[in-house]
Amino acid sequence: MRLQGIGVGRGIAHGPVVRMPDPIPEPGTEIRDADAGTEFARAGAALQEVATDLAERADRAGGEAKGVLDAQSMMAQDPSLIDDIRSRISTGRTAERAVFEAFHGFQQMLISMGGYMAERASDLGDVSQRTIARLRGVAAPGVPDVDHPFVLVAHDLAPADTASLDLARVLGLITLGGGPTSHTAILARSQAIVAVVGVTDAASLVDGTDVLVDASDGSVIVEPTTADVEAAEQRLAARRVAVPIGPGKLADGTEVPLLANIGSPADVADALARGAEGIGLFRTEFMFLGAEKAPTVAEQQEQYRAVFDAFAGRKVVVRTLDAGSDKPLVFLPTGQEDNPALGLRGLRATRANEQILRDQLTAIVAATAETGADVSVMAPMVADAAETEYFVTLARSVGVQTAGVMAEVPSCALMAGQVLGIADFVSIGTNDLTQYTLAADRLLGSVAAYQDPWHPAVLRLVKLLGDAGIQSGRPVGVCGEAAADPLLAVVLVGLGATSLSMAPSALADVRTELRQHTLEHARALAVRALDASSPAEARAAVRD
Ligand code: PEP
Ligand code: MG
Repeated sequence: MRLQGIGVGRGIAHGPVVRMPDPIPEPGTEIRDADAGTEFARAGAALQEVATDLAERADRAGGEAKGVLDAQSMMAQDPSLIDDIRSRISTGRTAERAVFEAFHGFQQMLISMGGYMAERASDLGDVSQRTIARLRGVAAPGVPDVDHPFVLVAHDLAPADTASLDLARVLGLITLGGGPTSHTAILARSQAIVAVVGVTDAASLVDGTDVLVDASDGSVIVEPTTADVEAAEQRLAARRVAVPIGPGKLADGTEVPLLANIGSPADVADALARGAEGIGLFRTEFMFLGAEKAPTVAEQQEQYRAVFDAFAGRKVVVRTLDAGSDKPLVFLPTGQEDNPALGLRGLRATRANEQILRDQLTAIVAATAETGADVSVMAPMVADAAETEYFVTLARSVGVQTAGVMAEVPSCALMAGQVLGIADFVSIGTNDLTQYTLAADRLLGSVAAYQDPWHPAVLRLVKLLGDAGIQSGRPVGVCGEAAADPLLAVVLVGLGATSLSMAPSALADVRTELRQHTLEHARALAVRALDASSPAEARAAVRD
């Protein structure tokens, strides 16, 4: 049997399925039937089991993880927590509800203490979820603790889950939801995890099923034959062209700097090893997804310095916090939103909390002064010239030398001339630009097919930006996933992109493809794509 989704990257993975359990819903407040003594005994037994399990896992894990797991094991046996649970049960709560409320109360207390203590709040939340899962007799949430390599099947992963996947065990990732530019997919690409997203039929896969995941065509073969596996391995070997690392260039020598997208200083080594000429998108919010409080200027400065130091003398484009939608930051709350992608996201969220934006800019300026990197700053989700003016003026007032904006909303592309009259540069976020042009939520598996940057409508908006760049003489880069698709990268250059930024794992393929085309040829391919009537037609017209 063959299932179909959308591949991220071009790798292949083969192994047994392990399913990620669904998150545990909050226990209800109904009054229980059992007497308090029996109910408390249930809670006590569950806590004991969780404590023992965590202590055993700590011993197996060793290293840094041991400390965290041992601490969690102790949390499950904390006498004041147990007292709190007992008293809540005595007022009629179920064991599940009492555990939930007691842990929640302690979590809030830790958060209010800030710093190190606040960071432990999510560990406490995890112990609470594990205990409630035991009480309900269901699997504990989170990535299962399995001691053999596996292909993880999940509805979708929170960005924090994806970031913390144990790469020694996770061979590949299949998600039912999520499109090719969901942040799960982006993190998977950045960690070179073979992933196929939006596989709506993956609900039928059970633990232990053997699967062959091919990201290059988005297929999942269930119970593959030896011949299937061999054919896949041959395809993979054929794709591995040896490309010398060097600057991005077209066949005629036109320079197209190839930059890396990163989410933290930890990604720098890989970017350098794969020949990134600089950083084109530093997704700063990725470092603070688990933070309960806004990071201080000093904390941020340290992280930025680590990246700038590694790229002394080279270009680093830092994006200000892009909170909201699937990247919620606790310290930048948006309130209840029915359509978070259309809500208080990106610059809108930081503008509503301007001190956080000022602090970030201050930290970037201070870290720049300490290092020799050529640092630029840009804001996400900028809609028009007025928002560009707001951001550029604020950034300059804090001391930023080069301030630009991301073109991710169609209005920004439609007003490109005005926007580039103010901003020093534009970087096109094709992931969001596609989501908003096609009105298709990039997180939703059911509309993942719309999330295709080959759509001529998206390419026409890119052209408006490229033309405005040529007219103003200002750079127009691309930092969305589109830049990681080798053939589309050529088209983007033909449309006026002056640099391309992507997950480091994509650099080699894009570098190779660019060398096959002159600028004139890239422009001719761009015209073909623009004239097509669908993404498939655009692809075919360029490929032929
Ligand atoms: C984009 O939208 O293309 C982009 C680069 O930003 P992000 O994927 O982080 O939203
Ligand atoms: Mg974006």
